[in-house]
Amino acid sequence: MADRRVGVLSAHLSAPAATRSSDIVACPTVSLKKFTTTRARKPPTKWNGWGYEDTRLYLNQDGVAALSGTRYPHIFPARRIMPKFRGWVEDVLGIDIRNTSPANRTKPELPPPFVNKEFMDAISDCAESTFDDGARLDHAHGATCQEVFRLRYGSFDKYPDVVVFPSCHDDVEALVAAAVKHDVCIIPFGGGTSVSAALEIPERENRMVVSCDMKRMNHICWINHKTSLACVEAGAVGIDLQEALDAYGVTLGHEPDSSEFSTVGGWVATRASGMKKNAYGNIEDLVVNLKMVTPSGTFTKQASAPRSSTGPDLTHIALGSEGILGIITEVTFRISPTPAVQEYDSVLFPDFETGIACMHHLTREGAVPAALRLQDNMQFQFGQALSAESGSPMRASVIDKIKKYYVTQIKNFDPESMVVATIVYEGKSEQDVKSQKKALEKITAGYSGMHAGAENGLKGYFLTYMIAYMRDFGFEFNFMAESFETSVAWDAVVPMCESVKERIFVEAAARGVRGRPFVSCRLSQTYDT
Ligand SMILES: Cc1cc2nc3c(=O)[nH]c(=O)nc-3n(C[C@H](O)[C@H](O)[C@H](O)COP(=O)(O)OP(=O)(O)OC[C@H]3O[C@@H](n4cnc5c(N)ncnc54)[C@H](O)[C@@H]3O)c2cc1C
Repeated sequence: MADRRVGVLSAHLSAPAATRSSDIVACPTVSLKKFTTTRARKPPTKWNGWGYEDTRLYLNQDGVAALSGTRYPHIFPARRIMPKFRGWVEDVLGIDIRNTSPANRTKPELPPPFVNKEFMDAISDCAESTFDDGARLDHAHGATCQEVFRLRYGSFDKYPDVVVFPSCHDDVEALVAAAVKHDVCIIPFGGGTSVSAALEIPERENRMVVSCDMKRMNHICWINHKTSLACVEAGAVGIDLQEALDAYGVTLGHEPDSSEFSTVGGWVATRASGMKKNAYGNIEDLVVNLKMVTPSGTFTKQASAPRSSTGPDLTHIALGSEGILGIITEVTFRISPTPAVQEYDSVLFPDFETGIACMHHLTREGAVPAALRLQDNMQFQFGQALSAESGSPMRASVIDKIKKYYVTQIKNFDPESMVVATIVYEGKSEQDVKSQKKALEKITAGYSGMHAGAENGLKGYFLTYMIAYMRDFGFEFNFMAESFETSVAWDAVVPMCESVKERIFVEAAARGVRGRPFVSCRLSQTYDT
């Protein structure tokens, strides 16, 4: 197929009259990852669970929780075992590890695909496609607890009939035009990390269903340092994109917990929020322009001006559209210089309410670091139970005891109520980060905040990458886990957490759920209302 990207690039190069070509880093050949197979993700990922195939939480031959593979060295700097975890899940969650519930070993048998021949003929030279059952299964779902449950123990009501892999915007235009003409349903697919069940196919759908996997569209079209804008194809995966942008000294700053797998198009279509939103904003703050192929043509703004006062910004209709309005092919983002300094940190508070009050205060004072997350006591204990063994077990245990003595006996924090805030500072210079720290410490001191060190902050930040692996581990022992995210005003935080917990306990009791429900809350904040 001819490379039509050059045409796209030159259109951009000649776009804003005031922009000289020397300001633009044109990257027609910067491919974040070339795909050589029809597998949706590289490196290999599990077909019936979360994440990389080589990474799995399991009980080793001594019955100790361990993580396979070599990934996530931040959390596991030495040995990849978590000596306290098993005891904690048995005592606190009431999990009986003798009572296992292993996943299906074989993939379900899929019904034969329903093929709309006219459509397939029409797209034969515009996108590679596959009817392979493995690819159809991979594209039939997202990553909710319910979907993973179905993968492990059952099957789905419907599967896409075919998976197509467009390589450029023109391919997508041709696909959508053919779908309209031949009455076919297209579902855009990014990283498959959806938590809204939007990738599942309604049972009533009786047209041919096409999953449009965007991962081959993973190029940076251009970066303009002068305007601080970058245009990226929609299939670029978060961590790959960040790595490629790093090479040009810039960052998008958008880091959802799923960024190892989720894509630019998925972020826009789900109105995603990243861990460092305090510094960079949520996805809606970063998008300046986009291209979306709709059944009635391609939508894009004529100019990527910083803002406009004439009429509503129509770009926003794509934000949160979950693929129902069209397929996003390119997104122009605001970018920032890569921060010169990044530091992790953590602060302990005596209880959740005090921690919340402090976070609110920090927000009002504008003293919020790039990432700030408060974990309630349950999550704090969970994090402690997950601590990896660092070096000699004897030394680790002695250090643990000393720390615990200091926190509980000298500072009088109650282990059953204390909470932790994990922090990431980013700044232009050491001095910049130093003054951010000073401003934060001044306020946290007024709430009995106790500095708990960079290591806890770093581990807390990267532990978020572990959560979905933990969920799969729970499934092995009849334990189900899910996270819900919402946004509420400050005065509703505590009542909301309490009522969600209460509701879950009531529902679990009413349904005769065995074991003890474990409900924990985490607060990330941005707004001052
Ligand atoms: C462990 C875990 C952690 C997560 N952490 C976060 C987090 O920190 N913040 C957050 O906001 N979300 C988070 N999520 C949810 C999820 O990662 C986001 O919604 C993400 O933006 C989805 O991106 P994706 O590329 O995986 O899209 P997919 O899951 O493939 O698709 C999601 C939706 O977007 C549509 N879509 C995908 N690509 C396009 C496109 N190019 N054009 C039009 N529509 C498209 C799909 O049709 C679907 O409706 C998390 C999920 C998991 C499982």
